[in-house]
Amino acid sequence: MVPFELPWYQMELRSRSDIFILRKPSLLIDQLHFRGPRYDRLKIRAQGDSIMNRIGHHATGAISGIGVATYLGLLQPDSLLAGGICVLAGWHGGVFPDAVEHIRGRYWITHRTVTHWVPLWVALAVWLLMNPYSGSLPYAELSYPSLLGFAIGGLTHLVFDWPNPTGIPWIHPWKRHSLRLWKSGRADLLLVVLWGAAISSVTITQA
Ligand SMILES: [Zn+2]
Repeated sequence: MVPFELPWYQMELRSRSDIFILRKPSLLIDQLHFRGPRYDRLKIRAQGDSIMNRIGHHATGAISGIGVATYLGLLQPDSLLAGGICVLAGWHGGVFPDAVEHIRGRYWITHRTVTHWVPLWVALAVWLLMNPYSGSLPYAELSYPSLLGFAIGGLTHLVFDWPNPTGIPWIHPWKRHSLRLWKSGRADLLLVVLWGAAISSVTITQA
């Protein structure tokens, strides 16, 4: 077979037991065939190299952080530190479920399983909302907004993963459900605009 270059930004290799994620600007396809019979059910999924594909979760997470900072009344001159930390934490929560799954290009947690498990994130968010500035949190003035921003950022990530084909685990951490509305990354720009508009309208009304 004549090797040819795949101009893909990211490839996911799945076998029965492993998932590798390769992040290379290009890859010779015949290298994949040398990986042998373990990969007989090899599935290659290309992900688009669009800017939105990479920044979708970053942007929606940060927007969620702004929403949480607004909800907590932190977008004021005298609470800028707590507000800023809250926005940063929302941003981090927005990318955390995917980022924590792989180290140096290799998955150590199966993609979209326990890191995307809805009950875990809902439990964290509900506990925080029911125990505002809980005394059990050290430095609650800063840790509470950052934890709530992180939790809501993470939930936003799950909500925006739900419509694409892989879906997210709702009840069992290894069984996913998908709304099957669009492929990953296809509607990111629309989602960022809609989410930004929703949060900024609330922020402006409360200002
Ligand atoms: Zn995800």
